[in-house]
Amino acid sequence: MQIVKTAVDLNQVLNSFRQQQIGFVPTMGALHEGHISLIKASKSHSNTTVCSIFINPTQFNQKADFENYPITLTEDIELLEQADCDILFLPSLTEVYPNGTAAIKPYPLGNLANILEGAFRSGHFEGVCQVVDRLLELVIPHFIFMGLKDFQQCKVVEQLLKMPHLNHQAKLITLPTLREQSMLAMSSRNRRLTADELEKAGELYQSLLYVQNALMPGNEKACLQKAADNLLQNGFDSVDYIALANAHSFELVTHWDGLEPLVVLGAAFLHGVRLIDNLILPVHLKGLY
Ligand code: AMP
Repeated sequence: MQIVKTAVDLNQVLNSFRQQQIGFVPTMGALHEGHISLIKASKSHSNTTVCSIFINPTQFNQKADFENYPITLTEDIELLEQADCDILFLPSLTEVYPNGTAAIKPYPLGNLANILEGAFRSGHFEGVCQVVDRLLELVIPHFIFMGLKDFQQCKVVEQLLKMPHLNHQAKLITLPTLREQSMLAMSSRNRRLTADELEKAGELYQSLLYVQNALMPGNEKACLQKAADNLLQNGFDSVDYIALANAHSFELVTHWDGLEPLVVLGAAFLHGVRLIDNLILPVHLKGLY
């Protein structure tokens, strides 16, 4: 695996691969099997796989979260080597933002940036757009691979790729969430939890599963409330939201007709660590008979 740190070096290395398909996996490091599943998908779709590790300050709405973000570079490099990743891009802040972080282009995301994660993490998706836009400009991949664990982020990047003023050609490929044995979604932030807390954290998935099983047209509010209560009863500090959205348009759903494709999403704090997860509900005709 080649490790490159500057935009100039990246371009030089990639120039000899541009005739073939380039797959790109942007990450913030502290890699786990979820990240590696994206590398594997890229390896099977592309001739050359580029992974980036860059902890993007502009997408953090809490300074402490940015400062405490786990850094495990030696282990990350080992995992990427094992997965046979071709290129690791490890840029500095000035390589990514040579004109500073304040010079931000408009990213018209509409309501998508203002609901759920956007509402609880002000400016988060503008930061995500800023970094993904810049990394795409540098890597110019054919495919970008992202995890459905960050469902709303996938919708945001889908929008970003359609913005004509940016002119990106990459195709987004989204992949399923990898989970721990407790069914907790793998996440770099899980490193901040003890073994006991990791076990408890699986309740987030269980609450979403409860919604999947219990939801009927007409009981939406009660069902979401019960899922949130379950988290509080099981030791979570607070719940930002348990909510339903249309799995395609990502509009919030308060009244379900039993047919609309749904995703149930949750965000909650456990011992000061913010966890997010979601489940795409299987299409069924529940409640219509
Ligand atoms: P991050 O390093 O958290 O910015 O994540 C980098 C990429 O890995 C994003 O596209 C995430 O959605 C994806 N990812 C994170 N956790 C998982 C997981 N448990 N399963 C699959 N993909 C994941």
